[in-house]
Amino acid sequence: MLKLSKSKFISSMSSKNPSIASIRAGEQVVFETKDCYNNQIKDESTFWNMIEKKDNNPATGPLYVEKAEVGDILKIAIIDIKINDSGVMTSRPGVGVLGAFFNDYKTKIIPIENNMAIFNDKIEIPVNPMIGVIGTAPQKGEIQTLTPGAHGGNLDCKKIIKGSTLYLPVFHDGGLISIGDLHAVMADGEIVICGLEVGGEATVKIDVIKNKSLPLPMVADEKTLSIIFSAKTIDQAAETVTKFAHAFLVEHLEMENHEAGQLLSLVGNLRICQIVSKLKTTRMEIPISILEKYGYKLP
Ligand code: CA
Ligand code: CA
Repeated sequence: MLKLSKSKFISSMSSKNPSIASIRAGEQVVFETKDCYNNQIKDESTFWNMIEKKDNNPATGPLYVEKAEVGDILKIAIIDIKINDSGVMTSRPGVGVLGAFFNDYKTKIIPIENNMAIFNDKIEIPVNPMIGVIGTAPQKGEIQTLTPGAHGGNLDCKKIIKGSTLYLPVFHDGGLISIGDLHAVMADGEIVICGLEVGGEATVKIDVIKNKSLPLPMVADEKTLSIIFSAKTIDQAAETVTKFAHAFLVEHLEMENHEAGQLLSLVGNLRICQIVSKLKTTRMEIPISILEKYGYKLP
């Protein structure tokens, strides 16, 4: 199986980045990744303000997917996420929801043993490894790996885990997909602007879907389809993702306008992915059992 080295990474997503490898649609590939601090923080006396920021939030790639053309969709099955045996967190003044309460910088190294993150002597948190950054080359210009968008990028959505399937748009031939910023665990919100940041390996299987229009990005697990949207404010993101979900039900399930709205009001969970990046990310979760009742199958 092809394995992409963590030494080949980008810090902005762009069609100008040369691909580091290519695969055929349907193949599996391993992305080896550094942590979001470019592996510079090894101990609790190294603070965020002391590290080099040039290669912040590195994403391994980009990978060229053969026969992926503009307008197609990449279907990315997350086969496995392996994480290292320790992770790091930083909290810092002026950023994140609590930035006003922090006057200094703090680093916490958190050991991971037997799938538990040892937070302190009282608290062990079960890990739930997820991919923070996963995206294709954006339609226009370059977008830092710190920022989410229609191309994916820094989505920080805790649904992007082993066993789930992510759908991303192809804006340029080959798609040019990159992956980084693994978290051992993260809660909705990511309020101090990090999860449990960790290096590791993500194994994915990438297929190309032709001639299909969907609200993207979106991620499906066994029970739920989540449509994801990012905007300047949580309000804007939440309202727009809700409209996308409503349009999806009307178009693909052929539901009546009011009925689709009423259904979302009862079973569509509107959630925050992250509230700390330059653009905030929300998701609307639709039960897959509802799609099945209407005979709709995800591509
Ligand atoms: Ca992130
Ligand atoms: Ca992160």
